[in-house]
Amino acid sequence: MFESMRKDFPILHEQIHGKPLIYFDNAATTQKPESVLDAVHTFYTRYNANIHRGVHLFTERATQLYEQARATVAASIGADAKEIVFTKGTTESINFVASTWGKQYIHAGDEILITELEHHANLVPWQQLAREKNAFLRYIPVNSDGTLQLDRLADLVTPNTKLIALSHSSNTLGVHNDMKAVHAYAKQVGAALLVDAAQSAPHQRLDVRALDCDFLAFSGHKMLGPTGIGVLYIKHTLHERLEPYQYGGGMVFEVDLYRSQWRKAPHAFEAGTPPIAQAIGLAAAIEYLQEHVDVQTLQSHEAALCARIIDGLKMLKKVQLFGPLEQLRSQGHLVSFAIDGMHAHDVATYLSYQGICVRAGHQCAQPLARKLGIQAAVRASFYLYNTLAEVDLFLESLEHIIKTYG
Ligand code: PMP
Repeated sequence: MFESMRKDFPILHEQIHGKPLIYFDNAATTQKPESVLDAVHTFYTRYNANIHRGVHLFTERATQLYEQARATVAASIGADAKEIVFTKGTTESINFVASTWGKQYIHAGDEILITELEHHANLVPWQQLAREKNAFLRYIPVNSDGTLQLDRLADLVTPNTKLIALSHSSNTLGVHNDMKAVHAYAKQVGAALLVDAAQSAPHQRLDVRALDCDFLAFSGHKMLGPTGIGVLYIKHTLHERLEPYQYGGGMVFEVDLYRSQWRKAPHAFEAGTPPIAQAIGLAAAIEYLQEHVDVQTLQSHEAALCARIIDGLKMLKKVQLFGPLEQLRSQGHLVSFAIDGMHAHDVATYLSYQGICVRAGHQCAQPLARKLGIQAAVRASFYLYNTLAEVDLFLESLEHIIKTYG
């Protein structure tokens, strides 16, 4: 469907172990199209300068490109440019919220509600905050297929709930979470809502007004952008009540020996030299997606890849599939499985010898793996440039691996 776009991604012409690359590790990071590589290269070769700090032509250009990138990101999620803070990734965005809003507004006895399927990035910062503040960390439990037990919200959300933080889409099982149900409970008790959109931003059109969340976090590198750039959306109503995350140059308006004044958002939240080239690269990635990819078509393409791999894996002996398979067939972008008697790392290593990149392990969600009794899983995760032919080759290779080593 998007096959003609493969030529835009130079790395897809590489080989591993003498075999054509089949890249099924997109939930970890995606490949980059030429236009993103060009944007970064052009910045360094033609405009490179630090921003906000000078009056020469290059600094003006760099500042303009950086602020344009912010506007592009903002427009892509229905936000205002001043609501967008650049970070180095989802992990930093969530840590930002924990160490600013969390430190200010979570007190002893308060409750933070997350889910059992969170990536460690949306678990450990809250665990630490709860320990420091003598607050309570509560979990929305998962069913055996990884879907959330949303009917438990009625008990779990209490007047003490100050924050609900959850992933829009799970990196381990591909479960897509119903934010509407959670949002209604958050509003009922006046809790803040944080959405970890690391796995949804690449695959759907986000709208922060429709989600009506207070914070939303995602990473550029999972949606064709460079590494080292993340986004934190902070609802404008919170700006005045939020302390800066870090202190130093760039975020100050006036500095005296014993007192300083901050600039307004978003600059108050970006101390030091920001990831300028990376922000420009992310804007190029968003522009590439907007220009070439219809989101509905992308979702059906990824769902078709999921359906094909699920059907194929079901035919193979010894394979155990995880996750809500019916949901994945209609709106998935990744599939996780294990093979009886073979460690996931061995399977991934054998696949690598066939030119195939997949992820193996607990996928940074140890509590989920433990709860579901998954020792380690193999995860195949897709993006626009993957094809049904690649899935068929993957299935052939896997069958061969099971026959030979299983
Ligand atoms: N949350 C989810 C759901 C993720 O999948 C990831 C990345 N695997 C993260 C957070 C962390 O993202 P990053 O490593 O880019 O900070």
